[in-house]
Amino acid sequence: MSLQVAKESVGTLELAAAWEHALDELRRQSAAAFAQWFASVQLDALEQGQVMLAARDEFVRDWVRDHFQFELVEAMRSELGEPVSIVWRIAPDLAEPIHQAPIADGSDRYDPRRPRRLKIGERPSERPVERASSIPPASSSTPHLARSTTRDHLNPKYTFRNFVVGPSNELANAAAVASAGGGGPRYNPLFICGGTGLGKTHLMHSIAHQVLDSRPNACVLYVSAERFTNQFIEALQHHKMEEFRHRYRTECDLLLVDDIQFLAGREQTQEEFFHTFNALHEADKPIVVSSDKYPQDLQRMPERLISRFTSGLVADIQTPALETRVAIVRKKAQLEGIPLADDVAVLLAQTVKSNVRELEGTLIRLAAKSSLLGRSIDLEFARGEIAIVSPRRPDVRTVDEILRAVCGHFRVTNSDLLSKDRHKSVAFARQVAMYLCRQRLKCSFPELGRAFGNRDHTTVMSAVRRVEELRSRDPQVNAHLEAIETRLSGDD
Ligand code: ADP
Ligand code: MG
Repeated sequence: MSLQVAKESVGTLELAAAWEHALDELRRQSAAAFAQWFASVQLDALEQGQVMLAARDEFVRDWVRDHFQFELVEAMRSELGEPVSIVWRIAPDLAEPIHQAPIADGSDRYDPRRPRRLKIGERPSERPVERASSIPPASSSTPHLARSTTRDHLNPKYTFRNFVVGPSNELANAAAVASAGGGGPRYNPLFICGGTGLGKTHLMHSIAHQVLDSRPNACVLYVSAERFTNQFIEALQHHKMEEFRHRYRTECDLLLVDDIQFLAGREQTQEEFFHTFNALHEADKPIVVSSDKYPQDLQRMPERLISRFTSGLVADIQTPALETRVAIVRKKAQLEGIPLADDVAVLLAQTVKSNVRELEGTLIRLAAKSSLLGRSIDLEFARGEIAIVSPRRPDVRTVDEILRAVCGHFRVTNSDLLSKDRHKSVAFARQVAMYLCRQRLKCSFPELGRAFGNRDHTTVMSAVRRVEELRSRDPQVNAHLEAIETRLSGDD
């Protein structure tokens, strides 16, 4: 009977963690009884608020139900904040009992493939309990922890060479180089934090590559916190905690844990990670952690872990400025073999500001389309494509925001824009504002007419068309628009 745990489901993982927690509690309170009775009980599956258990016979089921079930269910309910039910079945042969039966003495040796059947009426305290660790694996069919020491889990392109350094990431980069033994003071741990798509994973892979380049036999473990959690749960379920701990605490020379925010609220994994951290730290093995938040802002993370995270160096990565974005686009184009003119690189960098992943995505889409259509990526083509694919900026939500940016740029007032003033400079600013509202907010022409001092929708339509047309042929008009767009996105 194989264990089914839907690993994608956070609910199931939490259930698994709560289950192990509850078991640990019982184990602590009554080790001997636990060892005896849970050698005849197997966990079949955890799903949707249910724990599926198998008992070797009715007697075991009833005894466990009467003596342990209430505590188990209560402990899980208080941890999860939700009721949990236990569903039993009877199965005379258990492949993976929860507790591996102890070795009582030489004559009563435990056979891992056939867990010892509990004698009816036998009192749990009559048998001494030994550490389960002295027992061989329960079944040769249980999966071994997947090794992740090799470069299999590393993106070959995520190297220091391919990482563009600018003011937004230079501290994180320098600290990462130092962690990889490339000189400079090495901080342990190194905590890299920053928003999504800004290069945290890229830097972590770079460290791993660098260390493996200089010490090919080093045991470098790169894992996402999610993978760490899954491996931990799997190890618990398959009684492979010793192997797990040996790997993470003893063998490991460098541990990189990506997206640590995933551990939020996962108390048992946090606890395991805490001990892993301490073991490595004491042995002076480098630990690098990444997160989408500063340590202090991590939710549902115990104080002792947060204080460990801040005990080395916290290096943040900010959104790169225009110059860095241009350099990144050029670098990506060069790596991907995409011919890219300078003005197009600048246009891309000006348009996509929020994160590097999006910038890269826009470049790749552009290259794909140009090769499909057999067109070169010139400015006109790029502009057209960007207008089609770039989503409306989430940071611009209202007509007012656009009016403010237009007024600021042309030095006119809000009431000028909404008035009937036909003076050339005011009229042009108004048309630009209409164009931007249409493009960014996808307002209908009648809506825009109402927003702009109750004008007729045909007036708005011709204004939008005029600006569109001017933009494509008049560089000065385009420069005005780009400057306003920059204002709207709030940086540079
Ligand atoms: P995060 O882990 O912070 O969400 P990633 O490391 O996955 O972000 O980066 C997203 C993409 O952006 C990757 O393809 C990465 O190579 C690229 N990237 C981010 N920052 C840089 C940079 N400074 N130089 C080159 N590429 C970068
Ligand atoms: Mg990442």
